[in-house]
Amino acid sequence: MKTDVLILGGGPAGATTALLAARAGMSVVLCEAHATLPERVCGMYLCPAGVALLDRLGLRERVGAGARKLRGMVMVAPDLQRLETFFPHGDGIPDHGLALPRPALDNALLDLAREAGASVRMGCRPKVERTREGWRADDIEARLLVGADGRKSATARLLGLSLPVRRSRTALHIDRPARIAAPPFGQMHVFDDGVYVGLNAITMDMVNVSLVCDPELLRTRPAREVINERIARSPHLAELIEPLPASAKPVATFPANARVRRTATHDAALVGDASGYTDPLTGEGIYAALWTAEALARCVADGWHDLPAALAGYARIRARRERAKTLLCELFQQVIARPWLANATLRLLARRQSVADSFIGIVGNSYSPARGIARIALALSAWPHS
Ligand SMILES: Cc1cc2nc3c(=O)[nH]c(=O)nc-3n(C[C@H](O)[C@H](O)[C@H](O)COP(=O)(O)OP(=O)(O)OC[C@H]3O[C@@H](n4cnc5c(N)ncnc54)[C@H](O)[C@@H]3O)c2cc1C
Repeated sequence: MKTDVLILGGGPAGATTALLAARAGMSVVLCEAHATLPERVCGMYLCPAGVALLDRLGLRERVGAGARKLRGMVMVAPDLQRLETFFPHGDGIPDHGLALPRPALDNALLDLAREAGASVRMGCRPKVERTREGWRADDIEARLLVGADGRKSATARLLGLSLPVRRSRTALHIDRPARIAAPPFGQMHVFDDGVYVGLNAITMDMVNVSLVCDPELLRTRPAREVINERIARSPHLAELIEPLPASAKPVATFPANARVRRTATHDAALVGDASGYTDPLTGEGIYAALWTAEALARCVADGWHDLPAALAGYARIRARRERAKTLLCELFQQVIARPWLANATLRLLARRQSVADSFIGIVGNSYSPARGIARIALALSAWPHS
């Protein structure tokens, strides 16, 4: 069969690309390797800018109905200082994020893509090859190939775009019952050896737990013990979750990041994690999946008559929007690698609520990094006179 767009991967990036391309009038086939989407290693937090994007695309009702609103982030430094921050209102950006359980989110987006006219093939991992007119995969012939196949993207490798990761990190994930009514905040607990634990209160009773560490830590101990050791070290974690029982089986994934040279060629493009993912620390992934899908679908719909130029335009947008945020994420990595600096940074942010909230406004994409840093500088310069 002939189609305009072939998408590999049915996560949020692939499903949203399929939905928006189909809405724009293109014929779309999406192939997802799993027959049924499995549990995902993911904190399941969507930042406020992501909530605004769902609204703008008219998707909030279907994918976010009933989702828990998250008011901000709690940050805990290696010396166990704890800081509660609140998402600020940005320009057109709400003052909350959402907890979006997966794979329910992904399935809802796939349903929307089907309803828009995309053909979705589950349990399908086709062998893809270039032809003179575009791409062939099994019985499918397509003009444009979209790699939405995650951090270990085979499409990025096929296109010769993937690069070795900068940091070798493993991520663990498990959902656990909350010991107390879980407050509506995401949480980030940083330890003195650079390990960090993210918590997301999906409901009042259920907490999503993710741990990111050096893979070496898991060579000598099972994942369950690695998580329990952090719970034992931190009264803040122990307050919210019990140590994992022997029956608990955390899911692991490696690597926890991805890097590519470019995000498009003349006839193919990468979206979501396949187009690069710095680290789970800032919880960017679902938002990036959504906005890269939107940017690609818009560029391609507007420029179908000159696809290479449209794809070059997408690659430019992706690079421009990512540059400042990637730099910032790298800066965070440098901070958490040095416990004294992580402790000092938290003390600085704790000086004033407005400083802390501006910081979390940058992390949640409520402000651009430049605007957020300007707000922090302004608030700090007023301290302690007002
Ligand atoms: C520990 C951890 C915590 C995280 N927490 C958060 C968080 O709180 N908030 C947030 O926004 N992000 C978070 N992320 C990131 C987030 O999970 C990802 O950014 C997001 O899932 C990316 O979506 P995607 O559609 O690009 O890729 P994925 O969700 O990985 O989907 C890719 C899909 O492609 C399919 N596939 C792979 N190869 C093929 C193939 N050859 N053919 C067909 N299909 C294929 C896979 O089966 C999969 O379904 C976290 C990540 C980690 C590791």
